[in-house]
Amino acid sequence: MEAHISIDAGRTDQITEESISVVIPLYNEEESLEPLYYELTAVLEAIGHGYEIVFVNDGSTDGSATVLARLCDKDQRVRVLHFRRNFGKAAALTEGFKEADGDIIITLDADLQDDPKEIPHFLEKLSEGYDLVTGWKVKRLDPRSKTIPSKLFNKVASLTTGVHLHDFNCGFKAYRREVIENVDIYGELHRYIPALAYGNGFKVAEIGINHRARKYGKSKYGMARFTRGLLDLLTVLFITRYTKKPLHLFGSLGLGLFLTGLVINGYLALVWIGGESIGRRPLLMLGVLFMILGVQFVSHGLLAEMIAHYQKSDKSPISNRIGVPRHTANP
Ligand code: UDP
Ligand code: MG
Repeated sequence: MEAHISIDAGRTDQITEESISVVIPLYNEEESLEPLYYELTAVLEAIGHGYEIVFVNDGSTDGSATVLARLCDKDQRVRVLHFRRNFGKAAALTEGFKEADGDIIITLDADLQDDPKEIPHFLEKLSEGYDLVTGWKVKRLDPRSKTIPSKLFNKVASLTTGVHLHDFNCGFKAYRREVIENVDIYGELHRYIPALAYGNGFKVAEIGINHRARKYGKSKYGMARFTRGLLDLLTVLFITRYTKKPLHLFGSLGLGLFLTGLVINGYLALVWIGGESIGRRPLLMLGVLFMILGVQFVSHGLLAEMIAHYQKSDKSPISNRIGVPRHTANP
């Protein structure tokens, strides 16, 4: 993709605008794809930056592949990745990110619920100095069975992760390239990209967006997403806080349990020395249980530390560097 270069009436101009990649995960959305392509193209042409559109077909079994082939034939800026089967939205986003060449990556759902006219607002917010801008479906046009649990879910996620967002489930986002290069998503962790990015020190903002009702096809997620979402929240809290120092979590839990057990059993020992029998006291069981659990937590923590110690990561906490390192300045 010719990033930064626009060809205008036969003249090649170096322009400063950053190039845009739009990444669209989709699963059985045949009716929506063509209208989405036209809406998107109109908006992207009006913005005037270099752009590309990457569709990730997550194992659709309807006619999506045929529609995508047609779009690809018509427009060089469209690319399609086909998955062998349905791997889920997080996998689709991950592959789309690898494929995207742009300086700015925009993701949106394929079902026409996200309005491409919002893209300029995302870009505006990025230009205020944010690294990730995520959408908030202020007036969400989905059934109540979805919106009420979702409100609760967002409150819990917002309180625990420290990223104060109203909407963790919005697929409409804009990223600076560095963000996607430094955040790993798998399973269903795509919901928590803002939390993972925030944990990595990126600046995250939220903007209200227009949300439209689903016109074609049906939603791919049921209620199970909320229980899974809460479990994923545990993973995210662990990943953002403790992957590099797991013993801090397991160790403090373990020490707490062990010391409580020790106090209980110490008290029982005194009682025993005083001449009373303690063999039938339930408290003895509790004390022993706490001490054993405590030792287990600490040893888990040590094992996790060992894994963390050998884990090599290509992610970097550095955003930019000033000055030339000595070893490259004087070879
Ligand atoms: N999607 C996907 N793989 C899946 C499930 C969903 O790529 O396994 C896509 C889907 O086609 C849509 C987006 O992810 O473009 C959001 O899905 P959906 O509209 O079903 O979610 P909802 O709007 O109900 O939250
Ligand atoms: Mg949808």
